[in-house]
Amino acid sequence: MEYVKCNFCNSSNYKIITNSKDLIHNTSNEIFSIVECLKCGLNFTNPRPPITEIDKYYSSDYSFFKDDNIFKSIYRKIFIWISEKDFLCYIFNKVPWFRKKIIFHLKTKSFKYPQKIKPDDVFLDIGSGSGVGNTHWWGPQESLKEYNKWNKTIYAVEPNKKAHKILKNYVLKSFHSIDDIEENIFFDKIRLNWSLEHVHDPAKYFKFFSKKLKKNGEILICIPNFDGHIYRIDPSISELPVHLYHFKLKNIQDYCTRNKLKISYFKTFSYVNMYYFSSLIFKNEYLNQFKSISINSLKKFQEYLDIVDDKNLGNDMILKIRHDS
Ligand SMILES: [Zn+2]
Repeated sequence: MEYVKCNFCNSSNYKIITNSKDLIHNTSNEIFSIVECLKCGLNFTNPRPPITEIDKYYSSDYSFFKDDNIFKSIYRKIFIWISEKDFLCYIFNKVPWFRKKIIFHLKTKSFKYPQKIKPDDVFLDIGSGSGVGNTHWWGPQESLKEYNKWNKTIYAVEPNKKAHKILKNYVLKSFHSIDDIEENIFFDKIRLNWSLEHVHDPAKYFKFFSKKLKKNGEILICIPNFDGHIYRIDPSISELPVHLYHFKLKNIQDYCTRNKLKISYFKTFSYVNMYYFSSLIFKNEYLNQFKSISINSLKKFQEYLDIVDDKNLGNDMILKIRHDS
């Protein structure tokens, strides 16, 4: 474990926001804290596992490192289909195993993928996982496996060694770290799909963006929003300790300003199953109501979350970043 200073302003004055064990993946019994820098407001995990030890805090079935196959894909489609039918949700709500599976696949909100990638774009996916499967929120159509069918200049950065074995089939070149990328490669599009919160040194990444993004290039960053509704209810819901940073919009703005970058698009969003699964893991009075909620009531809760999202208090945020010229 290591204690660190604020990654943005180098201050060592901070207050503790919350303490928690790894309740989601149960990889250890250690207590981790999320602290807030008293100078710039950045929230980060402190103490935290150093980069040489972080591997052991990723459970072996951390979903985005695995391969996908036709059976998984059909299985997923069936559950998404069921979850969209209120009558079937009503029936299956009485069968606990089905209930859980349907809630897991609930996709009560859909919006278009916010980045347009052209066939000749030099594209970099940072924290790509194995490049197949569900790409977190966006679905398999935004995976590198899919992009590889029509774009042959895809690069990927992924620290997980196992993921590389699968990844190499779908990219021009993959790297273990941004430090390994050759000097002469520049990018039209860069994507960080829920990965920036996992890195040890975000300042290094923003410097990298500024240097390696082409003049009219664009970066898409999707990350949890620590200003979001659920984190205001309970900040310990963060995925500790593998989430090392707990960003708010203001923090991303700070990094951008320092590196002559600007935010060109910002949106927050929330999804209901996060409330259900958090209620099973975290002890919290507000979340308790979601333990026994019916699938259809949970779907209705999305209407409330839509209002929250419109106020930029959604639990995840999507940002596009460009050069500030
Ligand atoms: Zn700071």
